[in-house]
Amino acid sequence: MAGLYIHIPFCKSRCTYCDFFSTTDETRVNAFVEALRLEAELRKSEVDEPVKTVYFGGGTPSRLQAKHLDTLFETLYRCYPIESTAEVTVEANPDDLTEGYLSLLTQQPVNRLSLGVQSFNDKELRLLSRRHTAQEATDAVKHAQEQGFHNISIDLIYGLPRQTEAVWQENLNRATELQVPHLSAYHLIYEEKTPIYALLQAGKVTPVDEETSNAMFAMLIDWMTQHNFIHYELSAFGKEGFFSRHNSAYWKGEKYLGLGPSAHSFDGSSRSWNVASITEYIHGVTSGEPYQEMERLSRTERYNEFILTGLRTTWGVNLPELRYRFGEELYRYCLENARKHIDRNLLVTEKEALKLTRDGLFISDGIMSDLMWVGKSTINNKIQAYENS
Ligand code: SF4
Repeated sequence: MAGLYIHIPFCKSRCTYCDFFSTTDETRVNAFVEALRLEAELRKSEVDEPVKTVYFGGGTPSRLQAKHLDTLFETLYRCYPIESTAEVTVEANPDDLTEGYLSLLTQQPVNRLSLGVQSFNDKELRLLSRRHTAQEATDAVKHAQEQGFHNISIDLIYGLPRQTEAVWQENLNRATELQVPHLSAYHLIYEEKTPIYALLQAGKVTPVDEETSNAMFAMLIDWMTQHNFIHYELSAFGKEGFFSRHNSAYWKGEKYLGLGPSAHSFDGSSRSWNVASITEYIHGVTSGEPYQEMERLSRTERYNEFILTGLRTTWGVNLPELRYRFGEELYRYCLENARKHIDRNLLVTEKEALKLTRDGLFISDGIMSDLMWVGKSTINNKIQAYENS
């Protein structure tokens, strides 16, 4: 079992770019925590392996109060075989991380914090409707370090409207000055139904052009690697020993159990997800009515996920494992489709794994989709071409 994921669907306010499931109505936190406690009890038989990671995501888990954390940690540790060395991460908003709240977290088994900083520029923070300032983000990291949290990750977003390379560089400078051992950096995506998407549609914001996006991604990679971070996943950089164990397990296809509304689970062959509604979730858990959907993944769907998650990482797609798990046909299909990218130095095989090169990182989506299975007749045609060549 890779881990437990716990979705906390509350935020004090909503950010303009976010399409995660959460609500600003915090009047139901107590009822929600009680339902979550019950779900954890009801689903304990689904976990039959030691739990190596526990991840509180959201939403904003730092909206939980001491009594909620007490209840949830007591329940999780009683119901699940969580290893004593487990990585236990809590996502937090910088303005929630007061010294008082941090002190409260030190009394729980939390040993990793993931802070939604997003930017160290106040203008950008306002555009994103973040509720903290750059100074508050800096203070939150420093206070966390003073209270003994050294495994800290911060999130940044780049490619914001009107963001210049100089501003992005300033963000990177501030991130590394803080001496945190992990950074996740995401390009802004204009998700439908978000306020920033509406601004885009109304012509009130202009996306950065592709050249600027690529330049910012290159700056990110260069800056972080110069500062001894390992670029171990497309969006993730960690110092040695500080990679996210929870996310790494996910990218390696390990099992996880997700609790809370909208949380996903994977048992090695099926994927399931809880309803994205607090009302329906509480009702379902407490009444016994269904609140989950499930799909059994076909062999080719599992192959596609293997390609997608493997290529994202520095470990790449392990070719002997691919052949063993998915058979000769898909193995050959993968190699045939990889060939043109290898010839153009976008993919490389190293230690029997297929990996993106630095140039390949910039067009990873296209390469992944080329390697994914698209249909039986296409496979046969491509394999035939491979065998005839
Ligand atoms: S980005 Fe985080 S804090 Fe902002 S609305 Fe989304 S989940 Fe809430």
